[in-house]
Amino acid sequence: MSTVYTEVAVIGGGAAGMAAGLFSARAGARTLILERNEKLGRKLYITGKGRCNLTNDATLEEFLREVPEHPKFLYSALSFLSPQDTMRLVEDHGCPVKVERGRRVFPVSDKASDVTKAWQRALSEAGCEFRLNSRVTGISEEPEGGFRLTLPDGAVRAQCLVIATGGLSYPSTGSTGDGYAFAEQLRVPTQPRRPSLIPLLTADAWTGELQGLSLKNVRLTAARGKKTVYTELGEMLFTHDGISGPLALEMSCHLPQPLPDDLRVSIDLKPGLTDEQLRNRFQREIAEAGKRTLKTLMEALLPQRMGLLLLSVSGIDPAARLNQLTAAQRETLCGLLKAFPLAVFGTHPIAEAVVTRGGVDIRSLDPATMSVKGRDGLFFAGELIDVDAHTGGYNLQIAFSTGALAGHHAALRALASLNE
Ligand SMILES: Cc1cc2nc3c(=O)[nH]c(=O)nc-3n(C[C@H](O)[C@H](O)[C@H](O)COP(=O)(O)OP(=O)(O)OC[C@H]3O[C@@H](n4cnc5c(N)ncnc54)[C@H](O)[C@@H]3O)c2cc1C
Repeated sequence: MSTVYTEVAVIGGGAAGMAAGLFSARAGARTLILERNEKLGRKLYITGKGRCNLTNDATLEEFLREVPEHPKFLYSALSFLSPQDTMRLVEDHGCPVKVERGRRVFPVSDKASDVTKAWQRALSEAGCEFRLNSRVTGISEEPEGGFRLTLPDGAVRAQCLVIATGGLSYPSTGSTGDGYAFAEQLRVPTQPRRPSLIPLLTADAWTGELQGLSLKNVRLTAARGKKTVYTELGEMLFTHDGISGPLALEMSCHLPQPLPDDLRVSIDLKPGLTDEQLRNRFQREIAEAGKRTLKTLMEALLPQRMGLLLLSVSGIDPAARLNQLTAAQRETLCGLLKAFPLAVFGTHPIAEAVVTRGGVDIRSLDPATMSVKGRDGLFFAGELIDVDAHTGGYNLQIAFSTGALAGHHAALRALASLNE
């Protein structure tokens, strides 16, 4: 079995690995990407529902606001390769992009494959080598410096190493968590893995009855005691076993896991009205059309299925006339409209998450280079690191930026060690 030598080896040819390979090769180091799949960037193909929301045309400050934990860790990486740099990079390599709602960036063709092709063109142009169908199964540190990687058909020796093997979500794309084992084997601390951007499970008796119903312009709130953990306006979706859609997914990034027993989640179905304004609206409806049924009023206020469910939860007869409602019943209805409770008790499994939280502990990495502090030539990049963001193109950009920074510095370190 043969042993190949390279100055920089990159394990994983996803978003972070391709960026690492490109910026290492551009910095002048002989670079080899090792990818277990039959092609590079397999996960990219399924991103953005096949359209690949590759980045967000945000400023640095705006971007960091979308990163719930440790945003400052990304400052250098995003300065090294900004969203605008990424847009230019793919455009310069044959993939024009467009900016959509929320400054989400997509290829003009709406084809995720065009984004991967652009990165591949850039890799070829820079002279970066890659080997497909090459799963790294072990890493050891060489006594004289550098690393030895074990593959089924041989070994690779590298002066510097970038590990960019992704997280644990959608394992069919190749991200099966190998990098966590490598990190632990190399004595690099990691944080427990948890799903993020993930649909939530509810235990309400009516769960599933609203399946497929999307609510727009509502406010979703999660609280513990008096502390609000998350509150945001937007759109959400009921599923067969709970809630999903933009608000629910984003909320999942902010929840402690496992979910605590004192977590309270509610929907404000009328966020445009204060409690007072809602009560006045009821009074007005009663004064103007007291003979209308409650069901008719709810249908005017809410999507039909939501209105009927709210009445069923309130225990008030939908056929009751507005002028028959007691003050207590009006209060119950106003209360439910402003804070409809959801018994959220868990999340879907990590394999179904858009991203994996946890992973390589950021405290063990130098944010200016992505290298492991106090260790020579060892770098991490992408989703494998304990940093993640909301939806909107931010997660791919984090992978591109951390990968680019790691690749660049791995190359500089490898080239410097040649002269030592
Ligand atoms: C359904 C879905 C949709 C998404 N949509 C978007 C979106 O539109 N915009 C956005 O910003 N983010 C999106 N994301 C998140 C985004 O895809 C990830 O954050 C990003 O791909 C992480 O890049 P990465 O390079 O760190 O990991 P990955 O893309 O997972 O790449 C890791 C690579 O390493 C390889 N590998 C693993 N182990 C080994 C090994 N031992 N040897 C060799 N190779 C190995 C894998 O095969 C894989 O190719 C989405 C995620 C999902 C699941």
